[in-house]
Formats: sequence, C-alpha cells, structure tokens
Amino acid sequence: MNIAYRFRIYPTEEQKILLGKTFGCCRFLYNQMLNDKIREYKKTKKLLKNTPAMYKKEYPFLKEVDSLALANVQLHLEKAYKNFFRDPKAGFPRFKSKHHSQNSYTTNVVNGNILVEDIDMKAMSQCLHFGKSVQDNGYGMFRNMLDYKLAWKGKKLVKIDRFFPSSKKCSKCGKIKKELKLSERVYRCTCGNEMDRDRNAAINIREEARRMLTA
Ligand SMILES: [Zn+2]
Repeated sequence: MNIAYRFRIYPTEEQKILLGKTFGCCRFLYNQMLNDKIREYKKTKKLLKNTPAMYKKEYPFLKEVDSLALANVQLHLEKAYKNFFRDPKAGFPRFKSKHHSQNSYTTNVVNGNILVEDIDMKAMSQCLHFGKSVQDNGYGMFRNMLDYKLAWKGKKLVKIDRFFPSSKKCSKCGKIKKELKLSERVYRCTCGNEMDRDRNAAINIREEARRMLTA
C-alpha cells in the first residue's frame, strides 16, 4: 500500500542545489536508459534490462544523488513500457525534456539505523519542522497520518510542544536567545557555538525527543 503526503517545502540553498541535481540526474538517467532500450531493440528485437548501476561508472555524478530516486527511474520506465505494450494507445515512452517535463522524482522512506528507540527520526523532525510554520488542517492531517503510519509499523511518534524553542535554543549550552530573525541562517551563541540554524534546531528537537522518551 502506498500512502501519499502532499506538503510544501522550504528548502535551504544547499537543499535547493541537491534537489536540482536530483531532478537533473533522474531526467538524464531516464533518457539514457530509454535510448539504450530503443537501440538494443532495433538491433536484437529484445528488450534491454538495464539498471542505474550500469550507468554510474560512466557517469559518476549519478552517485551524488539519492540512489532510491534513481531506482525509481527504472521502475517508472519499466511501467511506461508495460503500459505501452498493454495498450499502445498509452503511447510509447517519451524522452524527458528539461523545459517541458515536470521537475520531480520519487524516493522511499527507509527505516534503517535513521537513531534511538526505533523511531523514524527523519519523518519526525520533518513533521515537527513543518509544524512550526504550518498551523493549518493540512499539518494536522499530516501528523495524524504519520502517527497512524508509525503506529502501524510499531513505532512511536513523539510530539513536541509547539512552543518548544527549537530554533532559539543553543544546542551546545542550552541558552535561549530572546530574538532570532528568520534571515539569520547561522546560529551563533556566546558560548562559541556556531552552526547552521536548521541543524541547531534539529539537534534540539532530537534531544527533546530523547528526553521525552526516557522521561
Ligand atoms: Zn551556547
């Protein structure tokens, strides 16, 4: 079963670059794989079984992006082929154009190592992070669904009070700033702590979650 969440993201500059790279790599790989399938079919009348791994050596930049996004490229292409063979009206898979194709990719949630008590920390911090700026029903629904989905996997969602000063608190010494402008991307404390604002907030959220779980 697939569960879909839809939410707006506000990527940092670094994340924007990585997203752009991932879109580009997925489009590139899709086109390469499609091209090779077509060429092979013309030559042998057989469908080529190609995988992303076969391209990483020749195009090492593919190693820089989410490998699950690339794995999904293969699945999407195979699905496009299947649709075409099942019903030619669906159309033959088309090449993706930089200007006319949607910038998108698909990835998967991985429940690996992500920390303590077997919680999905990544999903949790995302959830909480969005909670700070989005107080509408969309967020409430997202949280309920996440709660439900984690419960279903035998995991626990830790809800942190929305007034918890995750951004203003120094993750090293615990001091809380009176004011922190949104434009201040680097958190600087009198104790000498200096780190990316989001990272500082994420550490505070993680520590608060740990505290709540052991309380
Ligand atoms: Zn400090």
